[in-house]
Amino acid sequence: MTENLMIIGSGPAGLTAAIYAARANQSPLVITGNEIGGQIATTNEVENYPGFVDGVTGPELVQLMQKQAQKFGARIEMDYVTGVDLRARPFKLETQNGNTYHTQALIVATGASARKLNVPGEKEFAGRGVSYCATCDGFFFRGKEIAVIGGGDSALQEGLFLTKFASKVHIIHRRDQLRAQPILQDRARNDPKINFVWNSVVKEIQGSAKVETLVLENPRTHALAELPTQGVFVYVGHTPNTQLFQGQLAMDAEGYIQVDARLHTNVPGVFAAGEAHDHVFRQAVISAGYGCMAEMEAEKFLAELAHTSSHPV
Ligand SMILES: Cc1cc2nc3c(=O)[nH]c(=O)nc-3n(C[C@H](O)[C@H](O)[C@H](O)COP(=O)(O)OP(=O)(O)OC[C@H]3O[C@@H](n4cnc5c(N)ncnc54)[C@H](O)[C@@H]3O)c2cc1C
Repeated sequence: MTENLMIIGSGPAGLTAAIYAARANQSPLVITGNEIGGQIATTNEVENYPGFVDGVTGPELVQLMQKQAQKFGARIEMDYVTGVDLRARPFKLETQNGNTYHTQALIVATGASARKLNVPGEKEFAGRGVSYCATCDGFFFRGKEIAVIGGGDSALQEGLFLTKFASKVHIIHRRDQLRAQPILQDRARNDPKINFVWNSVVKEIQGSAKVETLVLENPRTHALAELPTQGVFVYVGHTPNTQLFQGQLAMDAEGYIQVDARLHTNVPGVFAAGEAHDHVFRQAVISAGYGCMAEMEAEKFLAELAHTSSHPV
């Protein structure tokens, strides 16, 4: 059987595309990835998604999006796409669960993943003090002293959230100025549990059974320092989840999919939405908007396809 429209990814981009496609009677099939909801599902506090006056948790927000898509007939499969063949239509997709799908149109909403520090100790202590998700792991650090690495919105937002559990949150930043929104900067600077450690990059994470010490380096002077800590939360940027499409979809040097203003990729019938192509805005509402745009273009593509096959030239 050939699907009309498949969507890879269940973050705000993928689920919004699914809502629009389902309401257009396309009966879209969403392949979620290994967890439903994408990056926003890893944060506890979303204060800037329109319509939620008192904020909403990330997991709650994506649950609502999923329900909304399913209400209109979207099918949601918990699976992970491991191979694609976009050389001919219908496109072919293979998944971790051993399924093979064919689809006339495809929306790539595979988003991005947290960038690693790539320092000694990071891999060894993953799950034993090193984390990329404050919502998931914050609770384990009750009364403990921890470090958050990064200086952007995510680092500050999650650092502030972690003060609910930790006795002290050291925010380690490579520069002496933050990139985060001023409102987050103000809150962090005024929080007595937060301590900024400026001009510092992590060289190594040390410990025995669990994380015990961070070795920091001043990038200008190369002076080394040690910071005792029991947890390390890493928020140092993202890498797009697009390796799957290497050699088939045009990408920039960092792996972001290249699209035109209407989110068409270089392959007709394949559209990209959200952080798989957007490395500028990185907000849930923007990804949701891209999901809507990509779906509307996919719908047009499918309508033209149906017209051409019923009126061959
Ligand atoms: C800690 C944190 C806090 C944040 N806070 C906010 C906030 O307060 N407000 C805000 O607007 N934004 C926030 N953001 C940013 C927001 O989460 C992202 O902008 C948004 O999630 C991007 O949506 P997306 O759908 O493009 O991609 P993602 O959310 O990255 O979703 C990608 C999806 O694709 C799936 N996937 C990847 N590869 C495959 C594959 N091969 N097969 C199948 N599925 C695949 C993944 O499992 C995932 O479901 C935050 C981000 C983080 C990390």
